[in-house]
Amino acid sequence: MARLLLFAILAYVLWRLLWSAAKSMFEGMGYQPPGKNSTSVGLVRDPICGTFVLPSSALTSGSGANTRYFCSEKCREDYGHSRNTGRSRNTEETR
Ligand SMILES: [Zn+2]
Repeated sequence: MARLLLFAILAYVLWRLLWSAAKSMFEGMGYQPPGKNSTSVGLVRDPICGTFVLPSSALTSGSGANTRYFCSEKCREDYGHSRNTGRSRNTEETR
């Protein structure tokens, strides 16, 4: 019984050792294991011109879940305009 337990522990340690070695090998080859944070390289879409931009280098508007990313200052201005004019036009047309 004690030998069986020892064997189980040994097998577990060996498995952990093999697994960590395999993981470091995969990471060395540029492989990212699933479940690891992969949102760090996610691209976001500019809602005005449709260009995909990096969130870290893009211009933003809004905050939290309403954050929008833009490729240039012009796109950000256009986004603000389209939101404002769209709202005021709707209220005017209901006359
Ligand atoms: Zn743009």
